[in-house]
Amino acid sequence: MKKILLTTLLLSLILCTPTSAAKIKKAADVPVIASCDLLVVGGSLDACFLAKEMAENGKKVILTTPHNNLPREIAVALRPWVYKKDLENKSKEVAQFLKDCRQADFEGGFLLNLLSVTEKMENLLLDSGAKFYYGMRPCAVLQSTGLREQKAVGGVMFACKGGLVAIKAKTVVDATPHATVAVLAGAKFSNRETKNGKIRYSMLCKNVPDGKDRSFKMHSPHYAEFICDLPPASDPFCDAKNGLKARTEAIKQIMELGKSGKSQFSRGGDIVLASPRKKLVAQGMGTKVEAMRPREIHNLYVLSPLMNVADDAAESLLDPVAGIMLYEELAAALMKMPPPPATIQDGAALQAGFSHTSETLEKGEANYDAILPLFEALTLNCEIPPTLAECDVLVVGAGTSGLPAAMAADAQGADTILLEMHGDLGGTHTIGGVSKYWFGRKTPYFNEFDEELRKLQATGMPRTLAMLKMLQDETNVRLLTHTYVVGTVAEGDKVVGVVVVTPKGLATVRGKRIIDATGDADVAARAGAASTYGTRRDTLALWYSFAQYQGANSEARRHFAYAVDIRDPKDYTRAIIAGRRYKKSNNVTAPQYYFTPRETRRIDGKYHVDLYDCLAERRFEDLLFVCKSNFDIKGIGDSDLTFSGYVEWQRLRNYQVQVPYRAILPKSLENILVVGKSFSVSHDLQSLARMQRDMIAMGAAAGVVAARSVQDKTPLKAFDVTKLQWKLVDLGILEPADLEAIKGVKDNALPKLSPAELQERIDEIAAGKMDLGRAVQVLARPDETKPLLIKALKTAQGDGKVELARALCYLGHAGDGAPEVFLSELEKRLAGDQLPSITRLPTKRLAHPLPDHGFAPDPTYFINTLGRMKDKRVIPYLLNVAKKVEPEKDTTNRMYSYIYSVAYAAERLADPSCVEALRVLADKPGIRGGVVTVGSDPRRTARGTASRRDDRYAYLELCLGRALAHCGSERGYEILRAYANDIRGFLARSARDELKVLSEKASKK
Ligand SMILES: Cc1cc2nc3c(=O)[nH]c(=O)nc-3n(C[C@H](O)[C@H](O)[C@H](O)COP(=O)(O)OP(=O)(O)OC[C@H]3O[C@@H](n4cnc5c(N)ncnc54)[C@H](O)[C@@H]3O)c2cc1C
Repeated sequence: MKKILLTTLLLSLILCTPTSAAKIKKAADVPVIASCDLLVVGGSLDACFLAKEMAENGKKVILTTPHNNLPREIAVALRPWVYKKDLENKSKEVAQFLKDCRQADFEGGFLLNLLSVTEKMENLLLDSGAKFYYGMRPCAVLQSTGLREQKAVGGVMFACKGGLVAIKAKTVVDATPHATVAVLAGAKFSNRETKNGKIRYSMLCKNVPDGKDRSFKMHSPHYAEFICDLPPASDPFCDAKNGLKARTEAIKQIMELGKSGKSQFSRGGDIVLASPRKKLVAQGMGTKVEAMRPREIHNLYVLSPLMNVADDAAESLLDPVAGIMLYEELAAALMKMPPPPATIQDGAALQAGFSHTSETLEKGEANYDAILPLFEALTLNCEIPPTLAECDVLVVGAGTSGLPAAMAADAQGADTILLEMHGDLGGTHTIGGVSKYWFGRKTPYFNEFDEELRKLQATGMPRTLAMLKMLQDETNVRLLTHTYVVGTVAEGDKVVGVVVVTPKGLATVRGKRIIDATGDADVAARAGAASTYGTRRDTLALWYSFAQYQGANSEARRHFAYAVDIRDPKDYTRAIIAGRRYKKSNNVTAPQYYFTPRETRRIDGKYHVDLYDCLAERRFEDLLFVCKSNFDIKGIGDSDLTFSGYVEWQRLRNYQVQVPYRAILPKSLENILVVGKSFSVSHDLQSLARMQRDMIAMGAAAGVVAARSVQDKTPLKAFDVTKLQWKLVDLGILEPADLEAIKGVKDNALPKLSPAELQERIDEIAAGKMDLGRAVQVLARPDETKPLLIKALKTAQGDGKVELARALCYLGHAGDGAPEVFLSELEKRLAGDQLPSITRLPTKRLAHPLPDHGFAPDPTYFINTLGRMKDKRVIPYLLNVAKKVEPEKDTTNRMYSYIYSVAYAAERLADPSCVEALRVLADKPGIRGGVVTVGSDPRRTARGTASRRDDRYAYLELCLGRALAHCGSERGYEILRAYANDIRGFLARSARDELKVLSEKASKK
C-alpha cells in the first residue's frame, strides 16, 4: 500500500469526511499546542464576540482562524461598510465596537478602518483573556472510543505552516463558513429549499462611474460588490469554484467599464460570501441554540448560516454586520451547560500515544525533545483520501514563481493543475503587498510576462485579476484556489501527489511531476525533505514585515520588524500581532492578508548555492537560470565571509549568480522540484537570490523542465537540462551569453584566472583596495593564492597590510604575522574611551538599523576572525570592548555589532577566561532581562519601532548566554533556559537547540 506522509494524531483518531474515511493507522506525536474549555473555530464577527463573552465569564477560550485578520466577514471578505440602520439590531457592545472603528461617513452609513477593526478585535479578545491563533485550518476532529460512545469530540486537529497540531477542548463551536468541523465530525446535513443562492465578492476601487454604466453594487464611493448566482454543484472545491466564479464575473464587468473610463479596482477580498445550500440536521430549529447542535454530537455547535434556520435567517447570518448575530444566546446557553463527559475532562484517552502533554507545551517547560523539531518532521501512515484530480504537472502555490511555472508547463503541452491556498493569484507580489520589483534580471521572458499584465491592468483591474484573466484566456491550466497542502502521497522517496485540506475535508491531487512553489517548501518539507530555516546557527530568518496598505495603493508600506518562525502557530500569531502595531504612519488603513516573511525554509538540494558561488562567479554545466541583485540583507549575515568583513560597502551594487538545476532538486526526494525563495541557497546569498523577476524566471524554467520530463518519460533526477538550455534561451529565460560562459564546464567550475590575473588582485588587496568580488576570487583559490598573500604581507603597509591579514586570517592561516596584524590593530583602535564607529560606509546613513547588510565597525571583524581562529590573545580585547559598551545610549544600534562580536568570539574560544567580559555585558541595563515569557500578552513585543530594539537586544542576550554556557558558566544555562520559554518562537527555538547541543556535548565528556 502506498504511504501518505502526513503528520498525525492518535491511534484512535478517526477522520470522518463525506468524501473519505481516511483512517489513521499509526500512532504518532501531533503536538497538542493547547487545551481549553471552549474552542471556537473560524473568525466570524459572531465567533469573536462569543469568545470574548465566554472568556470574560471565566472560561478558558481559544479561537482559531485560517486567515491573518479578524473578523472574517469584514477584514477577510473586505466588507468594511456599515449602514446605520443595521446597528439597530446589534448588541450595544457590537454597535460600539463598529462605531469605534469608523473611518469615514457615507450616505446612510460609515466605512470602517480595516486596520483598526482587526487591531481592536485582537485587543478585545486579549483583554478578555481569550487566546487566538492565526493560520490554522481544521482538518480532523479528535476522538477516542469513549468519546464516540458519548457522542462527543475532544478537540480539533489543524493544519498550519509547520504541519499538523491539535487543540483539545471540552466544547467546540464551529463558526467556519462551511461548517467544516461539523462535516469532519460526521454531522448530517440536508438540502435547503432555495437552491439558487448568491455569491458576493467585494473590491476596493476608485473613480467608478454611477449606476447606469455598471452592474455591480457600490457601498460608499469606494467598495464595489459583485453579486452572481451560485454555481450548480457543491463539492470539496466549492469554495474555490465560488471564488473563481465571482472573480471571473468581476473581470467581465471591469473590462466593460474599462472601455469607457478611468475606474480602477485595486484590491479584492480573499474570500466570498456564498449563500448556504445545506443546513444542519440538528437537535432543534430556528435561531435557537438547539438548531446549532448536530443530532449526533453533543458538545459541538454550528454558529454559521449552516445551522438549522430558515433560508432568510441563513442569508442574514451570512453577513452579521448587516444581519443577525447569535453569540449572546449561545454564550448564555454554554454557561448553563452541564459539565462535559468525564472522558473529555480527564483528557487521558486523548493523550494516549503522546510523549508529552498539552500543559508541557503551553507552559513551555523543559521537555525540549517533545517539541523538537517543530511539527514538520512528524509523519504517519494512513489511508489515502479520495483523488480529486490528476495531471501531468502539479504546481503548488500560485504565487510569484508558481504562476509562471504552471503557464510554462502548459505552454509545453503538459496537462497542468495549479493549486493555491488563497483566492487570488500572485502570492507575495500581489496579496503580499510587494508589487514593486527590486533589481532581478530583466530577461525577455520576464519583460513579456510583465508587459502583458500591464496591458490588462490598463483596463482598471488589479494584478491578481489580470493574472487570472491571463491564465484563463491563454492556458488550459486547471486552477484550484482555497486549497491548502497538508501532506504528500509518496511511493518510497517519490512524491506522486499532495493531500489537501478544503472546507469539506481532506482530498488528494496527483501529478506525474510536482512543483513546490509555496515559497516555504511546504510540500517538500511534508514529504520529509531536509531544510534549513533562516540562518545556519539560529533559525533567524530575514526580518518579516506585516505590511499595511494606504488607501487604494497596491504597494503596501513595509517595515523591517524582526524574525518569525512561521512553522510555530504561536510565533506566527505573535508576529502578526506585533507587525500590525508596527505602524510607520497614521494613514495606514488595511492590513495585508497574506503574511509571508522574506525568508523561511530553504531546502537542502542536490547542489547548495552560496555566497562563494556568487562572488567567485562559479559556472554550472546544468545552469537553469540567473539571479541578479544587491545583497539585500534585512537581517543578520550568517557566513564566515560576512563576519570577517567581506561585505559590499556599496549597498546597491548588483551581482549575478548562476543557479544550477540541482539547486531546485531536493537531495532526498524524487519527482519534485522546489522553486521560489526556498530553493537550495544559503541564507546570505538568499538576500540577493529571491527577487521577483528572478523567481518568475525560475518558475518558468522549472515548468518547462517538468513538462519535458513527463513527455520524455525521464525522471527528474535523470533529466539532462543541458539539452534544454537553448530552449530556455529561445524562451528568453536565459541569455546567449550565459551559455557562452558555461562552454566546456563539466559539473561546475570557477572561471580560469591566470597567475598574472591573480597577482593583479593580490596587488589590489596589498594597496588597500578591497573589491569584494575580486577579493573573494582570491580566497576561493587558497592553494594558489596563500603563498602570494604571505609574500605580499611581508612588505605591506597601512590598509593594505590589514587587508592581506584579513585574507590570510580568513583562510585560517595563523603564521607569518597575520593574526598579529589584527591584534595590533585592536590595540590601536580600542585605545580610546569610546568604541570606534563604522568608517567604511560610502554615505553616513545606514539603510536600516544594524545589523544591516553585515555592516559593522572594523574591530568587530577582527574579533570575530580571531575568535574563529581560536586565538586566545583576543580575550583581553573582549573585556576592553565589554566595559565600553553603552546599550542604553545606543540610538543607532552601533553597539549591536560589538556585543555580538564578543559573544561570537567567546563562544568559539569556549574558554573560562572569557566569562568576565560576557558577564559585564550580560549585566548591563538594556541587555539584561529581555525575556518575554510564553503566556505573556503578545502585545508586549509590539511596542512599534521600539520593539525592533528590544527584539534585537533580546537576541544579543541569548547570544551572550550561549557563549557563557560554552565557556562553562552556569549563568549561560540560566539565560538559555529563560529564553527557551520566550514568546518569540525563533528565540525559544534557538535557546532550546543550544541546550540540546550543550547537553549532548556534556554527555560525551
Ligand atoms: C516583505 C517583503 C518585501 C520584499 N521586497 C521585494 C521587493 O521590493 N522587490 C522584489 O523583487 N522582491 C521583494 N521581495 C522578495 C520577493 O517578493 C519574494 O522572494 C518572492 O515573491 C517569493 O516568491 P515565491 O514564489 O517563492 O513565493 P510567493 O510569491 O509567496 O508564492 C507562494 C504561493 O504559495 C501559496 N501557498 C503557500 N503555502 C501553500 C500551501 N501549503 N498550500 C497551497 N498554497 C500555498 C501562497 O498563498 C502563495 O500564493 C520581498 C519579500 C518580502 C516578504
